[in-house]
Amino acid sequence: MLLIGPPGAGKGTQATRLAEAFVVPAVSTGDIFRFNVKNETALGLQVKAFMDAGAYVPDTLTNAIVKDRLGESDAASGFLLDGYPRTTDQVAELDRLLDDEGTKLDAVVLITADTDEVVSRLLKRAEEQGRADDTADVIRHRLDVYAEQTAPLIDVYSARGLVITIDGLGAVDVVTDRILAALADRGLHATNTIEKAANPS
Ligand code: ADP
Repeated sequence: MLLIGPPGAGKGTQATRLAEAFVVPAVSTGDIFRFNVKNETALGLQVKAFMDAGAYVPDTLTNAIVKDRLGESDAASGFLLDGYPRTTDQVAELDRLLDDEGTKLDAVVLITADTDEVVSRLLKRAEEQGRADDTADVIRHRLDVYAEQTAPLIDVYSARGLVITIDGLGAVDVVTDRILAALADRGLHATNTIEKAANPS
């Protein structure tokens, strides 16, 4: 399964919850990159400047880390990708990876939220977490990059009949319930029930 949506739509939050519900790992390229930046690994040093500027990390680097991660044993019976693919080149790479494994995507969950809402969420996150890419200018740039490079992927996956569009506005639990209901409608049933989220006011 894939999760797609603009920065601030709540992909990371929902990914964690869906992973628990379906008992598969949530693989977030953003989290992998942030971990590497924090620990000043060789990869971290290569990607830091791109991330701080709100630019995408080059496809070659991103594709390589995803290939590695999906090759780990916990991903053998399924996974949820959060924040990948984000470019048409990444779509092609993921298609190849899945083909090689003789498997295919079950669904692409598109979480929507309007620009005013995502900007205010990201500015709030900036206060709480101090992420280097959550400043007003960088947020604007990330939204532009999303519109230009990632939004077109929605058409690609829609043409394959995979996209489930979910309104990302509302409480965390409500959004999770919307996603679970839409997936169940397509015959994708969660194996685990999950705890209610502690919703920040
Ligand atoms: P958000 O969706 O809120 O922008 P993420 O945590 O998913 O945040 O990503 C943060 C940054 O990590 C991106 O702005 C980009 O620099 C880098 N990144 C994450 N995933 C990808 C990807 N698939 N391709 C290129 N860069 C990526």
